[in-house]
Amino acid sequence: MYFNSKSLGLYCHIPFCLSKCAYCDFCSVAGAGRRVKAQYLDALRKEMRIMGKKAEGYVVDSVFFGGGTPTSIGESELKRLIAELYDCFYVLDDAEFTVEANPATVNKRFANTLKECGVNRVSLGLQSAHANELKKLGRIHSLEDFEESYHLLRDAGIENINVDVMFGIPDQTAESFLNTLKYVVSLRPEHISAYGLQIEPGTPFFEHRDTLVLPGEDEEYSMYVYASEFLSENGYGHYEISNFALPGFECKHNKKYWNVDSYLGLGCAAHSLFGGERFGRCEDIQQYVSAIKHGALDSTVVSREVMTLEAMESEYVMLRMRLGEGVDKKAYKALFGFDFDSKYGSKLKNFVDGGFVISDDLSCRFTTDGMYVSNSVLSSILDL
Ligand code: SF4
Repeated sequence: MYFNSKSLGLYCHIPFCLSKCAYCDFCSVAGAGRRVKAQYLDALRKEMRIMGKKAEGYVVDSVFFGGGTPTSIGESELKRLIAELYDCFYVLDDAEFTVEANPATVNKRFANTLKECGVNRVSLGLQSAHANELKKLGRIHSLEDFEESYHLLRDAGIENINVDVMFGIPDQTAESFLNTLKYVVSLRPEHISAYGLQIEPGTPFFEHRDTLVLPGEDEEYSMYVYASEFLSENGYGHYEISNFALPGFECKHNKKYWNVDSYLGLGCAAHSLFGGERFGRCEDIQQYVSAIKHGALDSTVVSREVMTLEAMESEYVMLRMRLGEGVDKKAYKALFGFDFDSKYGSKLKNFVDGGFVISDDLSCRFTTDGMYVSNSVLSSILDL
């Protein structure tokens, strides 16, 4: 946990996309001009210099460029940003270095550039192997674009690839989801993320929610259980609610979030757990750029919480329970000084009896059914 360690994960937010997907409520804008991008990237490099000084003494063992679409800023800008990051932070040679990529933005030169810059893991958003579902989602790439990007990355020497897929898409059936999974598994990426579609306020899907033909609740549940079974049978361990990996390829960076380890988020909308505090920066790109220009980085913080031991405790339970291994009861007692069962045993009883949670002498963890309804179980036991 963060207060035991001097290792650090770095997240870098690139809030630009080529176009906006119909379901997306991430902090990203489509169609930003060169000037806006240049101003933002300049501000981001300045933040790296400021936060790099604060992180002296920390060893960075994971880097994650997310967004938005980090690859949408072009090779030379990405190269410049990564060079600045290496200058400002002490990054281990064998750090896991992930960049998220939209298949529409990867070409041979870009794939080679990623490799040259030390990127060793790429996360590709496929979502579906079906043209009609991709169209519904507003994705700008085809299955062929994805496949070409995947092979270009492999040819460039990227040996760790994640593929995102989605279930619960409008017009999707259990069969079409199964076909998507089969297709992805046939490529043997090291990691697969399978997310259920959420209809978020402020998105085109939310606006048209009454006319969307979504799979029913039972069907969506079957898709989730099927994904867990099918991927496990094919060698992918279900190590987190939405994540599956071949042995040894669990995402080190994301595991920092679930293990409540230290991480520093750079850029607008980025969140950090660092120096005993959890804090998040503003989503507004212009506000972020202007604050940094005027030497007022602190004014971009829109949420801040001092992580007392009490706050850490519920956070720890909430995040560790996302992992397949769950809460290790011995480690929990060593960290917080009391028994997990004395605090949660009675609250968990119904969920254990109902087959959603397994609680034995060593750990407390979700079953696959429990993972599917994890939010409501955790809300109930943590009184959220
Ligand atoms: S590419 Fe990703 S970040 Fe960009 S709009 Fe689509 S889902 Fe959102």
